[in-house]
Amino acid sequence: MSLHVDVVTLFPEMFGAITQHGVTRRAVELGLFDLQTWNPRDYAMDNYRRVDDRPFGGGPGMVMIPEPLEAALSAAKARQRDLGVAPHAVYLSPQGRPLTHAKVMELVAEPGWVLLCGRYEGVDERVLEMIATDYLSAGDYVLTGGELPAMMMIDCISRLVPGVLNNNVSAEFETFHDNLLEYPQYTRPEVFMGKKVPDILLSGHHANVEKWRREQSIIRTLQNRPELLEDA
Ligand code: SAM
Repeated sequence: MSLHVDVVTLFPEMFGAITQHGVTRRAVELGLFDLQTWNPRDYAMDNYRRVDDRPFGGGPGMVMIPEPLEAALSAAKARQRDLGVAPHAVYLSPQGRPLTHAKVMELVAEPGWVLLCGRYEGVDERVLEMIATDYLSAGDYVLTGGELPAMMMIDCISRLVPGVLNNNVSAEFETFHDNLLEYPQYTRPEVFMGKKVPDILLSGHHANVEKWRREQSIIRTLQNRPELLEDA
């Protein structure tokens, strides 16, 4: 199984942050994940390569015009179809449903995505009506563009693709698994600036370590995110 992602963005170079670094770069190199960007500016119709205009009805800022966006999205969807994937087009928007762990577990079942990153005051609504099958939000705050939310989405989905993480079990025991936050982690040295690693982790007693970790997870969740415990 591999993940195919097409991103429509005015800032394609930003995506080097995930294709050229870390676990996601390794996934690209292993052929487990591929990403292609499509810049609406390359589909602009005038000599100025214009991609935005003033909103009808007035108001502040600019809106992304429909024609270059539609053309870029169609090219992105065509690549997905060529790869044998039924394209799902997601508009990253603060008005979308939040990207939660539960949502990520749903998304990981799909082999491909077309992601639309807005800029300025957003996108002409008609393109969204025609193309977007889903709206996803990074959270209840407004960013300057959809690129960071798109990268967040790609990053957390791609690390769940089998083979991407070196240790396949590690994703199973992380924060949000069982609706709990992860227990505290320690590594060498045993004493750092006078602070010692909890004795139980050095005991070699696996059952006790597991019990301690479970307790710590519950305590942390109670302190930091008590609402998660309702579903735990
Ligand atoms: N005027 C828009 C509104 O009120 O819904 C916000 C536009 S925002 C300045 C520009 C672009 O950033 C949006 O089109 C969207 O693609 C992206 N964006 C901003 N905040 C986001 C969030 N929390 N999640 C996902 N995308 C976001």
